[in-house]
Amino acid sequence: MSKILIIEDEEAIADLEKDYLELSGFEVEIEERGDAGLTRALKEEFDLIILDLMLPGVDGFEICKKIREEKDIPVIMVSAKKDDIDKIRGLGLGADDYMTKPFSPSELVARVKAHLARFERLVGSGVPENEVIEIRGIKIDKTARRVWVNGEEKAFTSKEFDLLTFLAQNPNHVFTKEELFSKIWDMESIGDIATVTVHIKKIREKIEFNTAKPQYIETIWGVGYRFKV
Ligand code: CA
Repeated sequence: MSKILIIEDEEAIADLEKDYLELSGFEVEIEERGDAGLTRALKEEFDLIILDLMLPGVDGFEICKKIREEKDIPVIMVSAKKDDIDKIRGLGLGADDYMTKPFSPSELVARVKAHLARFERLVGSGVPENEVIEIRGIKIDKTARRVWVNGEEKAFTSKEFDLLTFLAQNPNHVFTKEELFSKIWDMESIGDIATVTVHIKKIREKIEFNTAKPQYIETIWGVGYRFKV
């Protein structure tokens, strides 16, 4: 639920805004003084600020400037005077929207929703970025389970992908075939350590320029394999 701070010294207006916003499902706090409002806007986590211009303590100009120095949440400035709105636009304080009082509460709610939606798109959906490994022309997207070799996507089976990713995540570390088999294949798997050799061969065909002289997955004779960096 989005949390909104209204900094407004006219109680009737603040209450009306609060009622409408709460009816639309927002959590709303009111602060009547400019100085107290500024402190809360900076210290607490609000998703949007509705800011009156003329306030006791610190005025809306100053509050907007200070919020902008630290936060990029949407700020909607409201004022009773059309002239003041023109003035703040001209000052470029960084408010996202301006409304002249009196305005209809439903118009305010519509603008609040629009700004919150826009801000969410800007900061992203909160889904973490894909985890990517890049080594000398090989790019492995672990999240999407896709592999590119010099910009060209190659198709890998599930086990080939797991094996390549495991080796690439542990560069220069030599693993025996037994270790690789136990890491990548579970114990119920049909097959044996020869499976590792077969998979290494398939991976090399996809990533190596010359499989006879592998540049990525090296064979350490008598020991196993390593991903060379
Ligand atoms: Ca006022």
